[in-house]
Amino acid sequence: MEILYKSTRGGENGVTASQAILKGLAQDGGLFVPDRIPALDIPMETLAQMSYQEVAYEVMSRFFTDFTEEELKDCIARAYDEKFDTEEIAPLTKAEGIYFLELFHGATIAFKDMALSILPHLLTTAARKNNAKNEIVILTATSGDTGKAAMAGFADVPGTRIIVFYPKDGVSPVQEKQMVTQKGENTHVVAIHGNFDDAQTGVKNIFNDKAFAGELAASGFQFSSANSINIGRLIPQVVYYVYAYASLVKNGEIKDGEKVNVTVPTGNFGNILAAFYAKQMGLSIGKLICASNENKVLVDFFRTGVYDRNREFILTSSPSMDILISSNLERLLYWIAGQSPEKTRACMEQLQKSGTYEIDEAMKEQLKDFYGDYADEAETAETIASLYQDTGYVIDTHTAVAASVYNKYRKESGDTTPVILASTASPYKFTRSVLHAIDSAYDSLGDFEQMDVLSQISNTEIPRAIEEIRTAPVRHQTVCEADEMPEIVKKILGI
Ligand SMILES: *Cc1c(COP(=O)(O)O)cnc(C)c1O
Repeated sequence: MEILYKSTRGGENGVTASQAILKGLAQDGGLFVPDRIPALDIPMETLAQMSYQEVAYEVMSRFFTDFTEEELKDCIARAYDEKFDTEEIAPLTKAEGIYFLELFHGATIAFKDMALSILPHLLTTAARKNNAKNEIVILTATSGDTGKAAMAGFADVPGTRIIVFYPKDGVSPVQEKQMVTQKGENTHVVAIHGNFDDAQTGVKNIFNDKAFAGELAASGFQFSSANSINIGRLIPQVVYYVYAYASLVKNGEIKDGEKVNVTVPTGNFGNILAAFYAKQMGLSIGKLICASNENKVLVDFFRTGVYDRNREFILTSSPSMDILISSNLERLLYWIAGQSPEKTRACMEQLQKSGTYEIDEAMKEQLKDFYGDYADEAETAETIASLYQDTGYVIDTHTAVAASVYNKYRKESGDTTPVILASTASPYKFTRSVLHAIDSAYDSLGDFEQMDVLSQISNTEIPRAIEEIRTAPVRHQTVCEADEMPEIVKKILGI
């Protein structure tokens, strides 16, 4: 049965999957959501025998119903190939009773690769299906990982260009180096003076500017988004929860139908929303444990029903979670409001006007499966150190936020349900913070010396992605103010 997409704010309905992917954001500023969540109507025993790519097809074909089998399988084959350093694509590692779902084996060693390796192919296929003749311009704001992963996905894909904005002082040195050395004639990187929210707001404003879109169309371009608001990024993320569950069944770690909890280090709310969608599809997920760093807007939201972004923005050692506006939360709001665009719109208007909103009792009632907590900088570091000392397994700062929160949850609740924890970045991506947590004596070493140390103490190989940037030349050096973003985009496109 066909699944159609509609805006969370009610302005668009009956949009096919390929159109929704092509548009990115709905015209009314809302996010595209499926008109229903399809059932995972395939036996777990069957899924347990499948490769990652095969599971990906089963999940995505249920959401992207206007893609042919051949189109979808082609996109999947191009995405999940040797760019990943393991055939499993998303392997599980068990340490201290937690199943760490390692989502960092792709081109940029962070979890954004899981979706951004397939999005360019979904997008160019969608363009072909809809006879779109314009060149697709991807505009993205990044807190570090998205930008690089998007560029790696789009670099030299014909018919596309990509422009990435990042906060000049809001990403790690390695993240910055990864971005400014990006190859590909169609890639552009711009640093802005401001934080991630400034960059994201700037991108949203450009998207919502109808006059700008008109100018663009006249010059043969059209915008699309690679941010996690694109439904073409969200759905591929549902896959790894299904795959992880099936792997646990296959390996006899859990019984088919047994509940598992899921813990996710959260920023923009895309990853955990994908787990929520997996649960709605029928996957046996119990609690959804939402872990924040000191920017704990979501923790307060789950506890009180009040979302309040009016607070100090804190720079932490988990920069990809330094976010005060979690865009994908809008999709959850829409769902818990009983798919009411009016209620969703009211919340979003409040947020825009005053930076805060409160959901009603009926909506709060729907949040029972979520648990939110946060870890401060000291707790995050302690978690890295103690896990390393006890097991030899080294995790990155984002994953450590989640592990710390999970340990608190388990202590507080006594809930011993098996847990899958989304491990969102390789420790090599945040080596300085990771080694500092283990022993501050390492602080004096240079970035690349530190990576050699990490390789020794964790007994793992330095990933290809890191080896590559050691010698790569800087190709991008533009810096601007947030309010100059529209001008910069025009300049880059030559309009
Ligand atoms: C993007 C990112 C997150 C947050 O994921 P969301 O889907 O935005 O909630 C967590 N950890 C890392 C390493 C990331 O890159």
